[in-house]
Amino acid sequence: MRPSVLNNLFCPVSSITGIGPKLSALIEKNCGPYISDVLFSLPSGLLYRPYVEKKSQLIAGALATLLFEVVAHQKPAKRSQPYKVVGFFDGKEAELVFFNYHEKYLLDKLKVHEKYFVSGKIEFFMGKVGILHPDFISKIKEDIPVFEPVYPLTAGLSGKVMTKTVKTVLGMIPDLPEWQDKEFMKKQGFSDWKTSLIKVHHPQKSSDLSFDDAFKMRLAYDELLANQLALFLARSHHKKQAGIKINPRTLVEKDVLAHLPFELTGAQKRVIEEIRCDLLSADKMIRLLQGDVGAGKTVVSLAALLMVYDAGYQGVLMAPTDILAGQHYLAFEKMLQQTTVRIALLTGREKGKKREKILKELASGEIDILIGTHAVFTEDVVYKNLALVVIDEQHKFGVQQRLQLTKKQKGVNLLVMTATPIPRTLALTSYGDMDISILDEKPKNRLLIETKVISVEKVFDVVEKLKNKIDSSEKQVQVYWVCPLVQESEKMDLMAAEKRFEELRDVFGDAVGIVHGKMKGAEKDAVMDRFKKGELSVLVSTTVIEVGVDVPSATVMVIEHAERFGLAGLHQLRGRVGRGAEKSVCLLLYGKQLSEIGRARLKVMRESENGFIIAEEDLRLRGAGDLLGVKQSGLPQFKMADLSVHHHLLKTAAQDAKTILTLDPHLESERGKALRVLLYLFQKDSEILTLKAG
Ligand code: ADP
Ligand code: MG
Repeated sequence: MRPSVLNNLFCPVSSITGIGPKLSALIEKNCGPYISDVLFSLPSGLLYRPYVEKKSQLIAGALATLLFEVVAHQKPAKRSQPYKVVGFFDGKEAELVFFNYHEKYLLDKLKVHEKYFVSGKIEFFMGKVGILHPDFISKIKEDIPVFEPVYPLTAGLSGKVMTKTVKTVLGMIPDLPEWQDKEFMKKQGFSDWKTSLIKVHHPQKSSDLSFDDAFKMRLAYDELLANQLALFLARSHHKKQAGIKINPRTLVEKDVLAHLPFELTGAQKRVIEEIRCDLLSADKMIRLLQGDVGAGKTVVSLAALLMVYDAGYQGVLMAPTDILAGQHYLAFEKMLQQTTVRIALLTGREKGKKREKILKELASGEIDILIGTHAVFTEDVVYKNLALVVIDEQHKFGVQQRLQLTKKQKGVNLLVMTATPIPRTLALTSYGDMDISILDEKPKNRLLIETKVISVEKVFDVVEKLKNKIDSSEKQVQVYWVCPLVQESEKMDLMAAEKRFEELRDVFGDAVGIVHGKMKGAEKDAVMDRFKKGELSVLVSTTVIEVGVDVPSATVMVIEHAERFGLAGLHQLRGRVGRGAEKSVCLLLYGKQLSEIGRARLKVMRESENGFIIAEEDLRLRGAGDLLGVKQSGLPQFKMADLSVHHHLLKTAAQDAKTILTLDPHLESERGKALRVLLYLFQKDSEILTLKAG
């Protein structure tokens, strides 16, 4: 189905000439599985390596290429000493220095009495020009690049290999039909796709690396247009399908809402009505409910599920983890006590007879509302008449899964809930296919969380104060202690968390627990459970604290190296406390090297508790790609567009996509066909399929 002109670009990286299995694994880790992923990995820096003829023009510490005449090889007496190749440059003595050398290789590579172009960082050893481990040695001057792109690299991958791979791959780019409007390109100063791609991999000055470079902008625009077209296609696909229309016969929803122990906020009432409107109409509901942590999304989802119950249908609520599913189940059980609504819990833990019974009762309609994890959508789970799917904390649940789900369950209405506050710009890139409801008001009874910013050097004071607080309080005090995980050195970070755990255990004894990403699910759950039950006072964790975990008695959140987190991430973590009647505190511990941005971020945290304001600031300060939680939240990660600087392009792309699909809804014109190629290029295969379905 993918047009054959793209075949080259979708070969695995292992098929690139000169790349063995070891390198291909590294390149895959660095860029992605396909050749196109290598092409779309753009340089982030630039090296300049001028050719220099005179010694007087050399700068110590800078890169340069020189013509070097070999006079002799000097093998050291001991292996631990450097091997030297001595000779002349510009008529003066010079030397090349090697540690860990291969003598035979060097004798062959640098033959005595011959001249070579050598390149590397220039040093002066007692006034003598020297290069330690030259980057290039060649007979041909042109072999050595004057400008060299610098790529972001995963550990173990060298810049040289990456550059060489990109070079090979650039030679494989096919000529593709132009999918952008010619007039628009002229106005923007855009070149064609292939030229742009080649240019961005050959920066010649620092402004070539800047986000507003015309070649870069063109590629960013392509990516955003593909994203917007795909979302519009998905949206019109949803809209074309008839949804299950409800026709209420009982009044359980009204009754349950009337007997809640609290009054609904204005925002909750508004959103409940928005959902009712959708469900009463014949169109299918595809709605995103965005609400800050603690905004009260659960009761909104219950109201929606009861609406379909009142009309005689089944509903299902899916949570990302067993713990969360169990939590929802208990909350529902409590709120539905006085009713005849039958609910059940189905996670990976319900097995054998128990599971069989649930499946049987689902198929017969004895169960009205099912709560669970992914298990609720396993192949053999059959519903009698499912009308509503609610997905809570929908991480990794993207456009494609939404399309698949609605294919599987015809006409089913979908409500997706997220606590990740998403800036408006970003919402457009990932939820353009959905209607959006926002819970922008917190329940009134909430106490403010006091946020303090403290140097990590004072960590022992913090521990001492916590100890006093825990020992002297009448009520149990519970503390989350978060140690950050930084991708590049997962192991070391884990060690740091374990070290802190040991230290805290010296102070608090058995009342300290630890959870981290390397633990098995059940192991993790067991520790979380003990914390929930109050058996643990301090829970040390890497960033794995489950989104949405509700332990109302936890009132202290300590975050180490808070400056390493994105604001959205800090906000999420802080939202784990301040859930009960007691006043909560959040202690942000910062490390010694606090950057400008780090400082700015901590300030925002101290000053605001509004997730949406924080998310906008996060985008402004860090850029979309860096937002912590981006991966979990299912937001698309752009390769060439950077939404912190390209948001103006996104708006244009959204308009462009709308116009294109209004004029040519099936993408059949000449440009339409070229746009299909663009969509395949960005792997929007399932969205293209909606075109075929008509
Ligand atoms: P989230 O939006 O993070 O999922 P929850 O639905 O878990 O939030 O609600 C957090 C807590 O607030 C729950 O204990 C819930 O019962 C309570 N709550 C929800 N709505 C209100 C309200 N209007 N007034 C007071 N408390 C509320
Ligand atoms: Mg929740």
